[in-house]
Amino acid sequence: MNPSDCESPGREFQDMTVVTDINAGRETLSRLIGESRRCVVFTGAGISTESGIPDFRSPGGIWTRKKEILFDEFVADEATRLEDWDRRFEMNEQFDAAEPNAGHIAIAKLQQQRKVLAVITQNIDGLHQRSGCVPERVVELHGNATYGACLDCEARQELGDVRTCIEETGHAPRCDDCGGLVKAAVINFGQAMPVDAMQKALMLSETCDLFVVAGSSLLVQPAASLPVIAARQGAHLVIINRDPTPLDDVAELVLRGSIGAFLGGIE
Ligand code: NAD
Ligand code: ZN
Repeated sequence: MNPSDCESPGREFQDMTVVTDINAGRETLSRLIGESRRCVVFTGAGISTESGIPDFRSPGGIWTRKKEILFDEFVADEATRLEDWDRRFEMNEQFDAAEPNAGHIAIAKLQQQRKVLAVITQNIDGLHQRSGCVPERVVELHGNATYGACLDCEARQELGDVRTCIEETGHAPRCDDCGGLVKAAVINFGQAMPVDAMQKALMLSETCDLFVVAGSSLLVQPAASLPVIAARQGAHLVIINRDPTPLDDVAELVLRGSIGAFLGGIE
């Protein structure tokens, strides 16, 4: 792509460079991270494919096999709730069997060394926390599928207890504390974004000096607006992704290839 052809959504962007050479990409990224004082990493389903969890659009993945359940449908109908729980149990078997990969581990190490301030993730698999990231510094934009929560009082429920309840009663669980509906702690399509997580993500995007995207098609809104916010306020924007994204032109550096290869062992 010719940088002079770039159309930017709002600021004068620097020339964009696409790098496919692993060593060259790692070297540049490592330098940018070293120079950064407030580096934020933003991840999507692509960071977990090397752990064996298919991304959103991969054929055969749970996401492509079944029509998504909308939030309103979950609230309105018991049979839909039971179907949603069935899918969550299936999904969690896959998450439980997965291990954090080189990409997750590199990000966790960088965070422990305080070279990465925070991780904003669209993922719901809990692998950033399992790889050693500081849980308070992982912002989950779409929630977490590895446990349930009451829709009214937010009390946490373990999936094992939910499963037992369904097996014993045939009904989707209600909250022990307030009687509200319990749902996997993820954001379904049609459900409002979590206010706290969105506020944190916005603050981080507005104040970082380096924003690194790893493994997102950058098609799901409002998450995909965060890299633009970061770039507009002057942060360096790096996108690590196997396929082109609609924001490549906004980035300063695009590393096209495997996240594990570009990030694994980076310091
Ligand atoms: P997406 O599936 O739309 O895009 C993933 C991107 O990652 C693709 O562009 C692909 O080219 C790239 N990719 C895949 N494997 C890669 C690898 N090893 N190295 C480099 N690039 C790779 O993902 P999204 O943008 O996160 O949006 C999907 C939505 O679905 C999110 O909202 C997320 O909550 C949900 N989701 C989550 C999981 C999970 O938690 N692991 C899995 C699937 C979907
Ligand atoms: Zn409750």
